[in-house]
Amino acid sequence: MTDFLFPDAHIPPPALPADLDRLPLIHRLLLGYYGQPQPRTPWTPLKQFVYSLLSARTKTLASDQVMRDLEARFGPKWESVRDAPLSDIEQAVQVVTFPEIKAPRLKLALQQITARYGSLTLDFLANYRTEKIRAWLEKFEGVGPQVSAAVVNFSTLRRRAITLDGHHLRVVQRLGLTPRGDVRRTEEILMRMVPETWSAEMLDEHHSLFKIHGQTLCTLTDPNCNSCPLLSVCRYGQRTVTPKSTLVSLGD
Ligand code: SF4
Repeated sequence: MTDFLFPDAHIPPPALPADLDRLPLIHRLLLGYYGQPQPRTPWTPLKQFVYSLLSARTKTLASDQVMRDLEARFGPKWESVRDAPLSDIEQAVQVVTFPEIKAPRLKLALQQITARYGSLTLDFLANYRTEKIRAWLEKFEGVGPQVSAAVVNFSTLRRRAITLDGHHLRVVQRLGLTPRGDVRRTEEILMRMVPETWSAEMLDEHHSLFKIHGQTLCTLTDPNCNSCPLLSVCRYGQRTVTPKSTLVSLGD
């Protein structure tokens, strides 16, 4: 029913052999340091879409809070949010960044989904290939590759994709895994390094590890490279950390 909405998929070229070992090694090092991340209970594609749309440039605690605030005000049905006055939605999403921009985008997207599919659900996306789903989602205002990846990977759709939030992107670039680039290009390059055996759940775990690392050690302003489990494989860390043997003692 929605075939006409989907453009052709882009198929990236294959990875170089040397790249294929890097992500599994980094994954193992992060797992060894942080342990297994809490497994996710996937939401419906629509709930994940709303969360991801609202959570751009917002801390995780505030993103989690806004879902509780929406439910407290409008109840469990997304139709109530769709049909609510814009000012009410804007008030309900005050905890996230740019509520005045995100509230109208959310209302419009919920209206457009209803208009295109006939009811307010994204469950029908399960019938389509991942590339088609992502291209379809990215037609909504404010939806880019980060949101579309989150919807296909984190939700019950459970497709293979890498969700590159700010933490994940920063760590990837400091490690030198990809040249500096935008989210779409970076994900394309990373996906060529992902072993074929990695499932959607594994990619979710991979993202969680990178996010924890970006929040904990590889922070935006003060990366703690001396304590980092990835120092031996990190381009940025190798450049910035002074080897102990060259340090000069300053005495007592
Ligand atoms: S060595 Fe430093 S820059 Fe590299 S990943 Fe670790 S904390 Fe980040």
